[in-house]
Amino acid sequence: MKYLSTRGHAGQPANPEFCDILLGGLAPDGGLYLPETYPQVTRAELYAWRGLSYAELAFAILSKFITDIPAVDLKAICAKTYTAEVYRHVRAGGDARDITPVHWLEKDADGRGRLGLLELSNGPTLAFKDMAMQLLGNLFEYVLAKRGETINILGATSGDTGSAAEYAMRGKHGVRVFMLSPHGKMSAFQRAQMYSLQDDNIFNIAVTGMFDDAQDIVKAVSNDHAFKARHKIGAVNSINWARVAAQIVYYFKGYFAATTSNDEQVAFCVPSGNFGNICAGHIARQMGLPVAKLILATNENDVLDEFFRSGVYRPRKAAETHVTSSPSMDISKASNFERFVFDLVGRDPSKVAALWAEVDAGRAFDLSGTDEFARIGAFGFVSGASSHADRLATIRKVYERYGVMIDTHTADGVKVAWERAADVPAGVPVLVLETALPVKFAETIVEALGREPERPADLEGIEKLPQRVEVMAPDADAIKRFIAQRT
Ligand SMILES: *Cc1c(COP(=O)(O)O)cnc(C)c1O
Repeated sequence: MKYLSTRGHAGQPANPEFCDILLGGLAPDGGLYLPETYPQVTRAELYAWRGLSYAELAFAILSKFITDIPAVDLKAICAKTYTAEVYRHVRAGGDARDITPVHWLEKDADGRGRLGLLELSNGPTLAFKDMAMQLLGNLFEYVLAKRGETINILGATSGDTGSAAEYAMRGKHGVRVFMLSPHGKMSAFQRAQMYSLQDDNIFNIAVTGMFDDAQDIVKAVSNDHAFKARHKIGAVNSINWARVAAQIVYYFKGYFAATTSNDEQVAFCVPSGNFGNICAGHIARQMGLPVAKLILATNENDVLDEFFRSGVYRPRKAAETHVTSSPSMDISKASNFERFVFDLVGRDPSKVAALWAEVDAGRAFDLSGTDEFARIGAFGFVSGASSHADRLATIRKVYERYGVMIDTHTADGVKVAWERAADVPAGVPVLVLETALPVKFAETIVEALGREPERPADLEGIEKLPQRVEVMAPDADAIKRFIAQRT
């Protein structure tokens, strides 16, 4: 499988393969990598895959996108990644061996599921980022060892992504992680999750400033090309193709869990921010998975909902971005959205380059009234938005009706799934992707339910563990020195 750039110039080598783009970020022309074509899943394959374990299914799907790792090795990497020990935080009644079990909220009179949660947050950091990041950790270690290389991952986090990256990379040969976080701005639970890691290759740096200050330092270091090359600085952000590829797998797994034959359809509702998760759903559908609808849910930061309703994509300025109680969806610009628009405009890179020339200049683009936007229905997307009041009401309603506690992001999904029920064909089950567990957002749970969220037994008391963190001023040069001394 060869990869291209959404803007037309994939760089050197001219047609890279999976391992060539694994450790990188954007394509050299500023575009995003995508496979030259989406592999099509035959009816026979779909039939055969229904009975596979998660790891076997991951291998079957990923081997269509990863053709430059020997099959035995890729199979071993999948088997090592998707284990019941790693994805151990399943809800009561679920089986950890399923990795991403479906927890039904509503069933028909005849017992057929109608509305369910696709549990994606059973990994070490209790958010769906673990689904892809754990695979990435094992892929990085494998490819670096093959090439005799090392990488120093530098990132900034306000919570979910940084901890998922650290838990994926801890103890991995050839990889170090330098993760900046805003000092004193994360919850005690989030701090404990990250700072209690004692692995030699994980460095937590608490910057005395805001998240944006931490982000600016990452940018400043990455723009120092000499430093970046000398210290082999890399990233694991949401545009990484391997992360999107890994996420395709659970759409298939969820489909099989929710149906008994491949003549049936399923709808997915996805709490969205950077469009990475739902982009994987779009690709699963393009591969031939029978997906009736992809329901996109946003919070108050509704740039994507606005696009799917109107055809206008109007990225917000940082000052216009709302700080919400589903913080992992607080985005002003959806970094993976370009991948979908590439497909929407008939995979014409010159059109994408023209549209993103506008975006990169801080402007909007408007596809309303175009033939391209007229085709949007064929891609199965519908959308909706949610507010803080909606989240509280939804968390309450789900708890009262079904006795199930859901997190704030998943609540945005359930709210929009209910709202858009009329868009889903009769009899088609809806799976809401559960993107985090409630314990990560305890403050809002207490506000909604008047009680503390449930906490997995193995995370009891983590706030009391010894912490390993360096507190530093938001000074790029000091942080460069810190990295240089340790690489
Ligand atoms: C990252 C994240 C999201 C948004 O996912 P995208 O791939 O950025 O659309 C939603 N919920 C949670 C809990 C997350 O961590």
